[in-house]
Order: sequence, then structure tokens, then C-alpha cells
Amino acid sequence: MDHNVKYIFVTGGVSSSLGKGIISSSLAKLLLARGFKVTIQKLDPYINIDPGTLNPYEHGECYVTEDGAETDLDLGHYERFSNTRTSQANNVTTGRIYQNVITKERKGEYLGTTVQVIPHITDEIKRSVRLLGQTGKYDFVITEIGGTVGDIESFPFIETVRQMKWELGHRVVVIHLTLVPYLKSAGELKTKPTQHSVKSLLEQGVQPDIIVARTEHPLYEGVKQKIAQFCNVAPTAVIESRDAETIYEVPLLMLEEGLDLEVLKKTETPIPEKVDLANWKKFVNNLKNPKYEVTIGLVGKYTELKDAYKSINESFIHGGAANQTKVNIKLFQSEDVTTKNIASKMKGLDGILVAPGFGSRGIEGKIEAIRYARENKIPFLGICLGMQCAAIEFSRNVLKLKGAHSTEMDPKTPYPVIDLMEEQKGIDNLGGTMRLGSYKCKLDTESKAYQAYKKEMIHERHRHRYEFNNEFRKLFEENGVRLAGINPEKDLVEIIELKDHPWFVGVQFHPEYSSTVKEPHPLFVGFVKAALEYNHSKEK
Ligand code: GLN
Repeated sequence: MDHNVKYIFVTGGVSSSLGKGIISSSLAKLLLARGFKVTIQKLDPYINIDPGTLNPYEHGECYVTEDGAETDLDLGHYERFSNTRTSQANNVTTGRIYQNVITKERKGEYLGTTVQVIPHITDEIKRSVRLLGQTGKYDFVITEIGGTVGDIESFPFIETVRQMKWELGHRVVVIHLTLVPYLKSAGELKTKPTQHSVKSLLEQGVQPDIIVARTEHPLYEGVKQKIAQFCNVAPTAVIESRDAETIYEVPLLMLEEGLDLEVLKKTETPIPEKVDLANWKKFVNNLKNPKYEVTIGLVGKYTELKDAYKSINESFIHGGAANQTKVNIKLFQSEDVTTKNIASKMKGLDGILVAPGFGSRGIEGKIEAIRYARENKIPFLGICLGMQCAAIEFSRNVLKLKGAHSTEMDPKTPYPVIDLMEEQKGIDNLGGTMRLGSYKCKLDTESKAYQAYKKEMIHERHRHRYEFNNEFRKLFEENGVRLAGINPEKDLVEIIELKDHPWFVGVQFHPEYSSTVKEPHPLFVGFVKAALEYNHSKEK
């Protein structure tokens, strides 16, 4: 049962992209720092069952949990901030809600009643929220509702909040995040959009308890009062959320503003005095005062969109801070990378990362970047498709296997060094059918990977259909490749390294999904360290 569990909903108004995910994650961090047990959930109003089939241009990167759920990238923030793992239950879309309801209807579970948005859809949403509370593992469940209040798709979710507030009283708190724009010509901060968005919530029967006002300028005297007066909340419940230098500063800013205290007060929770944020502060301090600097080239095909490689960017922040190093990331559109321009493009880089991806667009540029990193002994990390490209590059340019490729790009290649996994053959349903989630990998103790992880058995998350073709193992090994990590259950190659290279690591899995502030991922820490050493060696 969830008798004592408190439910915090985070809604957004005025504009999208205000950072509900960061506010939710920051609140989770503060509650954890006060000793509470917390989980965060994201409800996405779109109709897709999950974001697995979405192009990164739609909602940014698809994040994968340990249990193999393909989820919204906000779950990545939750894990990075809270250092706790999320699961399938932490991300629910309208599509999944309707799928569950329709499945129940087909089974006759509604006993002949007319199935409707209220109560059936809202009951199913409620069930998804309370499911987490009922695990008995948490004091607080923070549920972020995607989209913006007033969107047609978010209506059933807001209605569910209304019902839960009514049913559970002080155990439900609603935080509404809005934007307070600054009008330069008037020299003023404007609260009207906030007033309107709260009105829109009120029309749907929900009175927010706390308003978080996102602003580029400090809220001057009177602004908080004005918002409080128009939106029926106490001035202490109006929280300023100013633009921060880094998202990792937001928990500290929210602590100053007392967001956690407001939540504890509103939920009638006794307030523990101690807030343990010492390590977090140390991390932020390292981040803001780096001693060194390196530049890493990220070669991928979704370079126009900031969020497409979100977890990779954040992992560099963690791995950089662990080395007291600022990591500048230079994006390269792989379609534009050619043999001719590679040297001028990659000039000055201290490391090259080739990104995950699907399909053949830009593949030759990725292969070219890998050749350059291999020949010039530049630290290299290849992730998923990046590792597969490293195998292709090695086959073509070192083993001289002309036309070697992955069967994903060239089904008729004479040398299919990357091939479809046996269990993937015959699959035609694309949603949720890849090799997904966490799998074991045993490391070669001679490898760079082992040096980084400092242990033999690791677990890493996957999201792919193709794999290294075991028929080529011997040839690779005889020619300088170390098969540094193997999945013991299925005997799959998970990591390849070059023996004759300072740091060249290709991984079939996604290390970026499991890097957190508390536990920066060893491969990113190792890669940044190698880049730093390479940078220093250039200066000599
Ligand atoms: N497209 C490749 C595969 O399916 C790589 C996937 C990825 O990079 N995530 O195996």
C-alpha cells in the first residue's frame, strides 16, 4: 500500500523547454539529500507507445533503462542527478495508457461498461503513478507531466492530478513551472503569461501549490508578491528559477530558494535538518573551476539538435570534472567528413568520439574519422554504431577486405563484419524489439577497458540489432585487435581495442546511459584522461 507516500506533480506552462526535468531532478536530489527515498516518473502525452521508434529530431535522444525500456531523455537527468536507477514504470505515454485500457477492454475486464476517458483512462494513469508508490520503496514519487498545460493531449493527465489531489489531500502537491519573460523595451518582468497559465490549470480544476518561475533576470521586489496574489499561493511558494551556468547548479539554487522546504511543508512532512550536499558541491566546484581543457570531436549525424547526444554530453561533464578538465565538444556532421578534408577538420582535437546511430547516412564520414584517429594515435571512443564502424574501418584499411561493411548498410557485402544478430532475423515489428537493456560483459584484464573499470565483470546497457560477426574474430585478433569484452552468455564481442594505440576503444553498448554525478562512467573518465595526456604530449 502507499498510505504514507507523497505524490508531487510537476506541470509546465507558457512555453515548452523550461526545464521541468531539471526542476524535478533537482527536487529529487534535495529530498534525497535530506534522507528521503525518492523516484521520478515522466508522463508523456504523445501517442507513441514509447520513444524508441522516434527520430532524435523529435524529442532528442532515446534513453534506455537497465530493464530495457526505451524512454524519454528526462529519465537520464533523473538518474544522473539522483544516482538511482529508473525502469519501464518511470516513463508512461498516452499510447501505453490507451494500449493497456484497450487490452483490458478486449479481455472483457470492464464488464460491459462504456469505456471512457473519465474514469477509465484517468484510472489507468492513476494506476501508473501509484504503482511506483505501492512498491513500498519510496517516500516521494515525483511525476513530471510532459508538454504544456492547455495542450489537448495533456488534458487526461491534468484531470488525473485533479482527482488525486481531491482523493489524497495534502499527500499531493502540484508544482507549476512557468516563464516570466523580461520585456526589454518596457524594462520589466512580465507575470501575465504565468497568470494565464495558472488560470488554464484552474479551469481544469487544479490549483497549483508552488509556482516555479523561470527567468533570465532576478525577480525584483514585488514580482513574487504579484504572482502570489494572482495565483492564490503564498509568496514563499513562488520560487525563482534563474538561468544557471550549468544544470548541476540548479539543486543548489533550489535549496537557496527553499523549494524542498515548501514541498515538505505542503505535504505535512517533518523537516529533517541535515541536507547532505557536500559531494554535489564539490562536483559543481570542480566543474566551474577546471584546471585543464581538452577538445573532443563528436562525429555523428544528428548534429543540428543539442539534445540528440544528451547523455554523451553529460557523461563528458562527469568524466571531465573527475579529471578537473573542461571538455569542449566539437560537433561534426559525418556527411561532411571526407578523406580530403579530414585532416583540416580534425586539427587540434584531443580525442574523437563516433556516435551511435542507425542507417547509412553519413557512415563513410564516420569511418574516415576512425581511420584518422587510428593512424594518428588520437584517443578514440566508438559507441554502438561507432564501434561497428571501427570494425568496418579496420577490415577495409588494415585487413584489406575490400567492401567490408555492416549488413545494415550493405546487405550484399562480401565481408559482413557486422551482421544481424540471430534473434533479430525475422523481426518485422520495429518497436521495442532491439537487444535492449543491461547485459553482462567480461573484460580482458590486459585491456584499456579493464584499466578504466578496474573489475572483470561489468554490466552495460544496449540498444542495437547488429553485432560483431564472430567469424572474423580470429582474423582481427591476429592483426592487432584486442577483443577486450565478451558477453559470456551469448559469446558476443562487446568491446574492441587496438593493441598498438594509446587509447582506442569501441563498445557495442552505451556507457553514456549509466554515467552519474556520483559515479562518472569509467570509460568517459578514462577517455578524458587519455585526451588530456594526448593534449600534454602535443605541447612537449
Ligand atoms: N544501427 C546499429 C544497430 O542496430 C547501431 C545502433 C546504435 O548505435 N544504437 O546495431
